[in-house]
Amino acid sequence: AIDIGRDLGRVLANARTFEREHRLVEELQELADYKTRLVATVSHELRTPLTSVVGFAELLRAAPELSDRSRTAVDAIQRGAVRLTRVVEDLLVLHRATDADIGEVLPLDLAPIVADAVELSAGPAAQRGITLTADLPEGGATVLGVAHELEHLPTNLIGNAVKYTPDHGTVTVSLEVLAGEVVLTCTDSGIGISAADQERVFEEFFRSADPEAAARYGTGLGLAIVRRVVERHGGRIELESDLGRGSTFRVSLPAG
Ligand code: ADP
Repeated sequence: AIDIGRDLGRVLANARTFEREHRLVEELQELADYKTRLVATVSHELRTPLTSVVGFAELLRAAPELSDRSRTAVDAIQRGAVRLTRVVEDLLVLHRATDADIGEVLPLDLAPIVADAVELSAGPAAQRGITLTADLPEGGATVLGVAHELEHLPTNLIGNAVKYTPDHGTVTVSLEVLAGEVVLTCTDSGIGISAADQERVFEEFFRSADPEAAARYGTGLGLAIVRRVVERHGGRIELESDLGRGSTFRVSLPAG
């Protein structure tokens, strides 16, 4: 039976709940926008003075009259400023990759981008006796995308693979075109990631508490950048890892 009073009461209560939830969503959105603007502004403002600090510290180090004590201090200043620069750069990259609009996408061959990233990690890998090999397709691997975003995929994945692999280990990179997809795989014989951490490594600022991982320097932003860029390019990322044995990250992007 219809009870107008009761039903009207229910409708009104629902409407009020809906209004409250709607307001809450709006407030959360405003807060998220504020956070984004704050991070972007702070990072941007820090960049210029940091460039001066790094530059002048370098200049000071070259001064012949510097005492050992001063030299140690200048080295510490420079190392600190370089680290800070890395955090700021990563924050800016993450911020840019968060903009709703990806901008103009172009057909791009990922092979030379991956080759550059391998080259970048070749020095650090060789220094620690890590065998770094890459298998790249001759015919290229074209995707539709933005070059300055896509370059973070191989750079961050290969950089991590080398960083989280003990001396004399191996890192293998491959790029393939498979069934309409371009697949970038990065496998390492490193420290691996526990099942619990695997769920969280793509979060902003997440760093594993595992002592082996925590002993290495990082911002916790590298994989967050990778995930954002992959999502913006309509791709997906998979992770397989065994603690103490190594990890495989696989990025699949629609072929362009
Ligand atoms: P970080 O700057 O700390 O390396 P990332 O976002 O790149 O930040 O990675 C997040 C965390 O995931 C790292 O702190 C580390 O614990 C783990 N991780 C990432 N890549 C690897 C890897 N190849 N092997 C083992 N652990 C990894």
